Amino acid sequence: MPKTRHRKNATAKGRVDLIVEHAKQLLTIKGFTERPASGAEMSRLGIIEDGAVAVQGSRIVAVGITSEIRREYSAKKTLDAKGKVVLPGFVDAHSHFVFAGSRENELEMKISGKSYMEIMAAGGGILKTVRETRSISKKELIAICIERSRKMLQNGTTTVEAKSGYGLTLEDEIKSLEVIKHLQERGPLSVVPTFLGAHAVPPEYEKSPSDYVSQICENWIPKIAKSKLATFCDVFCEKGVFEIEDSRRILESGKKAGLLPKIHADEFYALGGAELAAEVGAVSADHLLYASENGLTRMKEANVIAVLLPAASLTLMIDKYADARKMISSGLPVALGSDFSPSCWLENPQTVITLACFKLKMAPAEAVVASTINAAHAVKQAHDVGSLEPGKRADILILDAPDFRFLGYRFGSNLVDTVVKNGRVAVSDGRLQI
Ligand SMILES: [Zn+2]
Repeated sequence: MPKTRHRKNATAKGRVDLIVEHAKQLLTIKGFTERPASGAEMSRLGIIEDGAVAVQGSRIVAVGITSEIRREYSAKKTLDAKGKVVLPGFVDAHSHFVFAGSRENELEMKISGKSYMEIMAAGGGILKTVRETRSISKKELIAICIERSRKMLQNGTTTVEAKSGYGLTLEDEIKSLEVIKHLQERGPLSVVPTFLGAHAVPPEYEKSPSDYVSQICENWIPKIAKSKLATFCDVFCEKGVFEIEDSRRILESGKKAGLLPKIHADEFYALGGAELAAEVGAVSADHLLYASENGLTRMKEANVIAVLLPAASLTLMIDKYADARKMISSGLPVALGSDFSPSCWLENPQTVITLACFKLKMAPAEAVVASTINAAHAVKQAHDVGSLEPGKRADILILDAPDFRFLGYRFGSNLVDTVVKNGRVAVSDGRLQI
C-alpha cells in the first residue's frame, strides 16, 4: 500500500479535517489487519520518522512522512507532534469494568495470605460485587461506567472489551449488557460486549450448579443473542467453578446462537482450558498461566489468540505469570488486557505494558503490538482499529515521550498528551476535552 494516496491533479491539495504531523516516531503497526502479528512480527512497529496522519471525519485517509502528507493535503486543524511519539489508540482486550461498589478491604486479606478462592468462599470476591451490582439501577451503573471510561480514555484506551458477569440473573446480566450498549452508542470509548453469565455460580444455585449451566445455555444465551446484546460468550473455566464439561456446553450453546467463544483458561490450574479453546475455535483464550504445552500448540493450530493479563497475577499476589516468551517464540499471537475488575482496578493500559515488560519479559515493541493490533484481533475489531492505516478509525495517541520505549520504561504517570477519538480531540495536554 502506498504511504499516501496520490491525487490525479498534483497541484490541487485535498482538504482534510485534521493532520497530526512531525511525529518523531509514528508507529503505524501496519500490515496485520488480516491476521495478528506473531513471532518476530510482534516487534514490527512500522515506524515512520517525522511522520504524519491525515484524518477526514472519523477515518484516517493517509499516513506518511510529514512533507509527503503536506504536499497532498491541507487541514482545518493541525496537531504538532514534534519530538513526540504517535501511535494507534490502545485496545484493552479483556475487562470487567461494569460493576458497582469496590473491594479495597480485600487488599489486606490478600496481604495476609488469603487466596482468591478463599476470599470467594468467605462471601467476598465476585459474589460481593454481584450483590452490589444487583442493588443499583441501570442509570446509576451507566453513570459509574462513563466515569471509568473517561479515565481509561485519558490514559490512552480507545477500544475496550467489557464483560457482564456481576449480575448472574437474566435480568441483571441484561442490565449490565444494556449499560455496555449505552456506552457503545454514546461513547466516550468504543466498547465490545461479552456475555459472562458463567463468571461464578450465584448463591441461588449453590446446591445445583448444573441447573445454573442449563439455565444459561437453554434460556439466557438465546435471549441475549437475539437481542444482539453481546458479540462474545465467555466462561470462567476453572476447577470448582465451571469445569471443562460445563464450559464446553456454555461455549457451544453460545456458538449455536451466534456468539463467538472466549474463555478464561488455566489461570489457577492446568485444567485443559487452552485445549478446550482450540476445540471450540475460541477467538481468544485468556490468562493461561498454567496452560499445557499441548494446549498452546493446539491453540496455535486453531488460530486462538493468547490474551495475557499480567495485572491479574500482580493483584492476586500469586507470583506466577504466563510464559509469554515461550508463546511468542512458538508463534502464538499474544495480546494484552487490563483485567480491570473490582480486584484489579486498573484504568491505565500503560501500566499493563510496564507489567508485560517487567513480568512477562516482553520487549516494549511486542507489548505495544499486543496492546494495539493483536488486542484488536482478540476482540474482532482489527478491520477497524489497532493500526494507523488509511480507512481505519482515527483513534490516535500522541505521547509526551521521545521514544516508544518510554512505554514500559517510564511508569506510574500518564504519558498520553493527546487522544484523538473518532477523528476528534478527546484529550489535550493530558486533560479530557469531552
Ligand atoms: Zn477476566
